[in-house]
Amino acid sequence: MHFVDIILPIPIENLFTYSITQAESTFLKKGMRVSVPFGKSKIYTGIVGYIHNTPPVVYEAKEIHQILDEAPIVNEKQIELWQWISKYYMCTIGEVMRAALPNAFILESETIVSLNKTTVINDADLKDDEFLVYEALSQQSALKIQEVSSILNKKNVLPIIKRLIEKEAVTVEQEVYEKYKPKYVRYVKLHASYTSESALTELLETLSRAPKQREVVFTLFTLSAKSKKPIKVSDLVEASGGSSAIIKTLIDKAILEEYHIKTDRVEYDGEEQEASKALNDYQEIALQQITESFKTQKTVLLHGVTSSGKTEVYVKLIEEVLKENKQVLYLLPEIALTTQLVSRLQDYFGEQVAVFHSKYSPHERVEVWNNVLNDSPKARIVLGARSSIFLPFNDLGLIIVDEEHEQSFKQFDPAPRYHARDTAIVLAHIHQGKTLLGSATPSLESYYNAKENKYGLVEINRRYNNVQMPEIELVDIKEKHKKKRMKGHFSDRMIEEIQAALDEGHQVILFQNRRGYSPIVECNTCGHSPQCTNCDVSLTYHQYRNQLRCHYCGYTMAMQVKCLACGVKDLNSKGFGTEQIEAELKTLFPKYNTGRMDLDTTRGKYGYEKIITALEQQEIDILVGTQMLTKGLDFRNVSLVGIMNADNMINFPDFRAHERSFQLMLQVAGRAGRTKKRGKVLIQTYDPYHKIVQQVSTNDYKAMFEEQLQERYNFKYPPFYRLIKITLRHRDYERVDMASEWFAKSLRQVFKANILGPEFPPVSRIRNQYNKNILIKIPQQQSLSKTKEAIHKINTSFNAVKNFRPVRVIINVDNY
Ligand code: ADP
Ligand code: ZN
Repeated sequence: MHFVDIILPIPIENLFTYSITQAESTFLKKGMRVSVPFGKSKIYTGIVGYIHNTPPVVYEAKEIHQILDEAPIVNEKQIELWQWISKYYMCTIGEVMRAALPNAFILESETIVSLNKTTVINDADLKDDEFLVYEALSQQSALKIQEVSSILNKKNVLPIIKRLIEKEAVTVEQEVYEKYKPKYVRYVKLHASYTSESALTELLETLSRAPKQREVVFTLFTLSAKSKKPIKVSDLVEASGGSSAIIKTLIDKAILEEYHIKTDRVEYDGEEQEASKALNDYQEIALQQITESFKTQKTVLLHGVTSSGKTEVYVKLIEEVLKENKQVLYLLPEIALTTQLVSRLQDYFGEQVAVFHSKYSPHERVEVWNNVLNDSPKARIVLGARSSIFLPFNDLGLIIVDEEHEQSFKQFDPAPRYHARDTAIVLAHIHQGKTLLGSATPSLESYYNAKENKYGLVEINRRYNNVQMPEIELVDIKEKHKKKRMKGHFSDRMIEEIQAALDEGHQVILFQNRRGYSPIVECNTCGHSPQCTNCDVSLTYHQYRNQLRCHYCGYTMAMQVKCLACGVKDLNSKGFGTEQIEAELKTLFPKYNTGRMDLDTTRGKYGYEKIITALEQQEIDILVGTQMLTKGLDFRNVSLVGIMNADNMINFPDFRAHERSFQLMLQVAGRAGRTKKRGKVLIQTYDPYHKIVQQVSTNDYKAMFEEQLQERYNFKYPPFYRLIKITLRHRDYERVDMASEWFAKSLRQVFKANILGPEFPPVSRIRNQYNKNILIKIPQQQSLSKTKEAIHKINTSFNAVKNFRPVRVIINVDNY
């Protein structure tokens, strides 16, 4: 008798055992996909775990349906990582599998199949049964796998669907994926009516009283005479000494015409590869120290100030690893994965760079997967966000975790709730490779580990080219308010500095930690503010659509004229967001172009890329944005960064709020003056003596570190204590309340102290579900695995209580 244990992509605790034939047992290998029946009528795609001869004890093993692969698509090292994640982050290996595999690999009875509209399929290329499905899908927009089954009158249709996916005839995703964002570049030409010489002469004549406009037109004419190539708006601005405002006027007058050309920046254009840059002394020393440190340490932290040239150091390390014929993983927070960086790496490494991104289509993801699996020359270096740790690497020599302090490396929902940085370190161990963590503002945990000699530590304290760190000025807005030196949310200093930067032809970035217009609307008469119907939060006012919107669930209603409670027409807005800052800017600096970067403006297709491009092309003079601005962007012409209000970040009720505010402010500040000229940063605050603001203004990471570390010690937080957060969730308030009391009591019986809660979070109801949290603090001397075992046991008894079973228990290890 032969059996196989299968990993199924569902949250069940054990692997399921199926029976296989002698022939199958010799063919099957760990990591291949098979389709198997499960429950009464379901079919799942599973991964072969172990092949053995022991029948299951409590149930009769069913036969597998079909073998889907000829060779493993998942390797042993991956399964080892899955097991670690499942154990460490307290979830099932099936949940890890689901997160790890591209969706196109996991077919199951609930999978929805639809036509791939991007390809044209020749009927002749399809087998009969494939054609039937294809035809059915031209009638119906989507089919469930079970429906496909009944169309074909066949039980197991997964192999057919798999073939259709391979032929790119169908897709199995409901979400609409964007192809990786192309770059839009703005070009201008003379309007058709001025192309004749006489018309042009006449035009220049009429413009003689607008010398700046005349200069632009004349420059455009000379530029186009010199070369037949299209002329970029940015080039024209530079050559004519004009501004984008002047160009806009000329476009409005129909003298110039603008057009866009889409240049796909990710597709490697096959141009000559460049040699990497020679490092300066500081970078060279850092490189040597890293290499030296790797001899004894598996993980090294590179703490290099913003714009110190960390990327160029990474490049040198990558070159070394490639020489040994090993693979490299370069991890970045999703949002920092910009085309700026992609093209920079492609310049050096050409088509060896593969990019793995959530905005990739399922097909592109499978392609990257296969390239990595087959050790293809097209995926020697994978540049990717969080989930790229799941790719099928064979021989990873190095993992770089850039911006390692970023909280977005931690997955919140769904399980596995893994931290990609910490998982990367484990992944590197499995490959006997190294991990380099990089940041200008390391997380307290990593810096502490480095100080404790768990990691190597290398620092670069100078910016490349010896550009000075930006000069940081604190503006006391309490004082400014008293002295009536505020216009809206802008202090006189902020206005002066913005004007000065603009006068010199530089760009300005303004950071405001909130989106929307003025987050909360309040009635001046009765104090009521409109609430979300699904969540316990006030709605936020968005001027652009004249709407009130919930930032938790997306609920919207039209902006009210009168108070919903008392009916009086006296609504007032409190607080301020990016939209309001932008509106104020438009009245303060009407002649300049403003732009906004937040969740609302970057939602659309290519939204984020468009704004970055516009800033690069200097079409935006002043950009207002949320923390999206902080992520590793490299703009050359930005000389001033303004932080509109430091206080609302610092006062956030979270034990990491101080650390995070420090990181955020220093990172945004780092966008100023990256080349040549020293940049300037203005921070508006009600409390200029706050220690965090002070530490930011003196760029004193070490002071921040020491002080925060002491607080973490005093209040029992990481890195001294580990945290596990347990959230109980249900529609019914009473039930959540009772269930969490029970849970906390059981935990206290085992752990005595160090259990906090249960407590309702500040926003306890989200999408009509109540949440209540319990926090477990685990001291260093307490065994982590025993702690998890105890939690697991309590959870099992919890689920045995009928009344509690419908309550969802969410376990978040190393809660961030
Ligand atoms: P960081 O990642 O530390 O913020 P970057 O690697 O982006 O810094 O470098 C900042 C700027 O300095 C970039 O524009 C980069 O091209 C330039 N730069 C860094 N190192 C070198 C070098 N060795 N030679 C030439 N230019 C460099
Ligand atoms: Zn809501």
